Amino acid sequence: MSQGTSSDNKNLGFLLHIKGRVQGVGFRPFLYRLADSLGLKGYVYNRPDGVIAHIEGNETKCNAFLRNLKKEAPPASNIKEIFSEQTELNDFHDFKIISSKQSERIITEISPDIAICQDCIHELKSDNRRNHYPFINCTNCGPRFTLVDDFPYDRINTTMAEFEMCTNCRYEFNNPIDRRFHAQPVSCHECGPIYEFFWKGEKDVDFDSIVKTLGANINSGMAVAMKGLGGYNLTCDACNEVAIEELRKYKVREKKPFAVMFRSLEIIKEVCKISDTEEEILTSWRMPIVILEHIRKGYLAFNCNAGLDSIGAFLPYLPLHYLLFKELETDAIVLTSGNESDIPILYQEEKALHTFKKITGGLLINNRKIARRADDSVVKVIDNKPRIMRRARGYAPEPIDLHFDTSGILAAGGELSNCFCIGKEKQAILSQHIGDLKNFETYEFFCENISEFSRLYRFKPSQIVCDLHPDYLSTQYAREANLPFSQVQHHHAHITSVMAEYNLKNSVIGISYDGVGYGSDGNIWGSEVMVADYHDFKRISHFEYLPLPGGDAATKQPWRTALSYLYHALGKDIWQFNIPFFSKTDRKEAEKLIVAMDNKINSPLCCSAGRLFDAVAALLCICFESHYHAEAPLLMENYLIDDHNESYSFSGDTQISFTAMIREIILDITGNKSPGSIVTKFHNTIALAALHQVRVAYKESGIKQVILSGGTFQNKYLTEKLVHLLNQAQFEVFYPQEVPCNDGGIALGQLAIAANKQM
Ligand code: ZN
Ligand code: ZN
Ligand code: FE
Repeated sequence: MSQGTSSDNKNLGFLLHIKGRVQGVGFRPFLYRLADSLGLKGYVYNRPDGVIAHIEGNETKCNAFLRNLKKEAPPASNIKEIFSEQTELNDFHDFKIISSKQSERIITEISPDIAICQDCIHELKSDNRRNHYPFINCTNCGPRFTLVDDFPYDRINTTMAEFEMCTNCRYEFNNPIDRRFHAQPVSCHECGPIYEFFWKGEKDVDFDSIVKTLGANINSGMAVAMKGLGGYNLTCDACNEVAIEELRKYKVREKKPFAVMFRSLEIIKEVCKISDTEEEILTSWRMPIVILEHIRKGYLAFNCNAGLDSIGAFLPYLPLHYLLFKELETDAIVLTSGNESDIPILYQEEKALHTFKKITGGLLINNRKIARRADDSVVKVIDNKPRIMRRARGYAPEPIDLHFDTSGILAAGGELSNCFCIGKEKQAILSQHIGDLKNFETYEFFCENISEFSRLYRFKPSQIVCDLHPDYLSTQYAREANLPFSQVQHHHAHITSVMAEYNLKNSVIGISYDGVGYGSDGNIWGSEVMVADYHDFKRISHFEYLPLPGGDAATKQPWRTALSYLYHALGKDIWQFNIPFFSKTDRKEAEKLIVAMDNKINSPLCCSAGRLFDAVAALLCICFESHYHAEAPLLMENYLIDDHNESYSFSGDTQISFTAMIREIILDITGNKSPGSIVTKFHNTIALAALHQVRVAYKESGIKQVILSGGTFQNKYLTEKLVHLLNQAQFEVFYPQEVPCNDGGIALGQLAIAANKQM
């Protein structure tokens, strides 16, 4: 061999700084094994701003290390940047993982919680010291976001700190070739947390006996409460109507569909139609609830999802779920957050013991504290891509990378499905789903969580941004925070949230359809097409304003909005039309409302697309009264038929009027057209109206990039139809993926606007 000139045997040293989601996902053990397999020496450690690795060895091997680093990284990791510099040789003797270095200033990402991995599932079932161990986890799986008390991600900074590892666990934790090497929540039967079960005034602490009783109780039709990952869950047999009824009474939740956890993917496939993309999400490490098409009606109890054509399905993601299914006769259970409707998920033992005192099937608790709550996330595949509808377990608190600085900005979000957002340098960190900020408990959660995020992320707000709505609790919070504050129009925020997600820099045409948003003119908006950027927006068009008789009451009673549309389209003679809607309507009450509308009493003007969906659903007697948010549009989706391209008439350029459509719908009803064809024609009409609004905006602006946002676009049919129409017309469409298109995304839009104001 020539003397040291061949690149093969030259020794090099590299210092690497790896940024992204690299803590709590098995990254250091992975680097250790990689270095070890290549015979490289050096060390690796966690720093709040990422992972630092120093490697030294043969040049070819060093290069292989750098290549494989990206290729073979653990499944839940996400490398965003690698800074590498060549260093002098230090003649290290081995490769070491050294303890973490504290640094107050910068922090790295907290990993979301990771569903149980295949290796752990296998171990759970096989004969070893963690057989049936309900807290089993490894470097590739287990709780993270709901376990972390502080940075960096080390056991001492998690709620596992109080459990001292036994000799065996410590050995695994310190053994570089073990799959639990530096798995912070590692524990076993001997040293880990324990479950306790309360039923009929007795307490059981033997886990195998507990899980048998739990299973037997569910099998016999009882509902049980059990501590999950990010809070308490209520569960019962999803095929047992009586059990579900009990659970509904318990939650004070009349009709809203429940998510269903299925024993296996095979069973899901028997009950739902699923695409490859949907299968991929269902089985990913995030394991969210996925909204699927429900094809085998009658398999689940009817009151599970009240006859909807869709079902929120998910797979077991905790060891506990696997152990429980072993005892169950059913292949499907309702698994819902343990709380009354509209109140945040319960996560503390004292409250659980009090709240679930009377549950028939018992209460399961454990002594591993939940650092912060997280509901199950909800994802829907639209236009063949996963779209997050509720962002919590498995997704939060993953940051969104932006191209502008956001430091010091706190965005308070909206009211429904509230999420807030904090700005750290060029990142937006959205909180987990908080809920509807209209009662004290949810507001408390919102306030606590802001303090929590501030502490964790070493975040000190220097300004606060919120919605334009004066009555939102998030607005009141912002106003009382004693900081410079600004307000953002709701639909402008919807649009900039998508601009931010896709890092768009120039003005766009934004379509924002939703249920309610406070308009700059004091009216209720929700069918806006705007030309917008981060600084400003110009409202180009919207649906025609109509009075909403009774204001907020119309949200719960879609028939009121239908009455307004009918009165507007047909005048005083509405009663001559012989359609079922009128025989269902209380004429006296309706006439009172007409007088109120005429006299502008408690009848705010509204142009929201959501209310138009309500009106048509009521007109068709599909939904007269609404029991939960967006029930009317959801029920209408049941009637959609394929390959039906007819539509109704509409008119106007800046104010779209649907008067003609309402008349045509009545003709179709009296002409005995099927509800399916009417509903489908209606959806097609809305898609065409949106396309028309975009064309008008294009004429004025010449912009080809179009954003779709707002809760109405949770409707798969409408969204896919519109995306298709816009693409055909040569527009480039942006529809959110990582951030909810509903009000859960508002905070990001607010943050983006505030950040750009500073510049
Ligand atoms: Zn695992
Ligand atoms: Zn142990
Ligand atoms: Fe909205």
